[in-house]
Amino acid sequence: MNFKSYFLSILTLLILISCKSTESSFVKSRKTLSNNYLTGNSIAIYEGINDTTFVNLKDFSSDFVFDMKYATDDNFLKSKVYDCGECYLRLKTIKSLVEANEEFKSLGYRIKLYDCYRPLDVQKKMWVIMPNADYVANPAKGSIHNRGGAVDITLIDENGIELDMGTSFDFFGPEASHNYQDISRKIRKNRALLKSVMLKHNFKSFDSEWWHYNLIDSSKDNLANFKWNCN
Ligand SMILES: [Zn+2]
Repeated sequence: MNFKSYFLSILTLLILISCKSTESSFVKSRKTLSNNYLTGNSIAIYEGINDTTFVNLKDFSSDFVFDMKYATDDNFLKSKVYDCGECYLRLKTIKSLVEANEEFKSLGYRIKLYDCYRPLDVQKKMWVIMPNADYVANPAKGSIHNRGGAVDITLIDENGIELDMGTSFDFFGPEASHNYQDISRKIRKNRALLKSVMLKHNFKSFDSEWWHYNLIDSSKDNLANFKWNCN
C-alpha cells in the first residue's frame, strides 16, 4: 500500500466512524425522550431544550390524535401542501398543550390536531386563495402558525368521536365564530369546554375560528419557513 492509498483508507475510516457516532447519538436522544415519556417523567424530557426550540409533539406525548388536514387534499386549498403530517411547535407551546391535554384527559376527552407550525411559504399560498384576515393571516405580517405558537384543534371523546362544534374545521363564515349565537346548547357547551381549558393553560382564543388557539406572547417569536423531514 503506497502512502496515498494508506491516507485514503484512514480518511474513509474516519468518515465512517464520525457518521456512525452522529447517527447513534441521534437515536440515543430519541430513545431517551421516549423512555422518559413512558416513565411519566415529563420534566426530564424538557430539560436542556430551549423554550423556543422547534420540536415534534410526537416526541413528547402519545396522547394526541392527529388529523393534519394540509397533508391531505381535504382542506380549503384543495391540495396537499405538506409532504407529511407532523406537528412541530416551539417547546413552550408543546408544554402548555400537553398540560391542557392532561386536563382534557381527566374529563374523558383528548385534543385532536388539524394544524400546528406552518411554513411561511404555505401561508403565502393560503393568502392567495383566501385574502381575508378574519380567516387567514397576511403573510407580510405572518401568522402565529408560522411562529410555532398556534394550533388548530378540536376535542374527541373516549370513543374517538369529535365533539360537535357546529362547523367543520376551516369553515370560513360567521357560524365558526365564538360570538355566533344561533347554535345549540350542546355546541355552545362543547366550544366553551375547549376554550375554558385552553385559556387556563396559557392560550388565547381567536374570535372568528373556534378551532384556533395562540400561545400567549408567541407573536414576539420569529417567523419560520423550514420544512420538516418525512421518513
Ligand atoms: Zn389556525
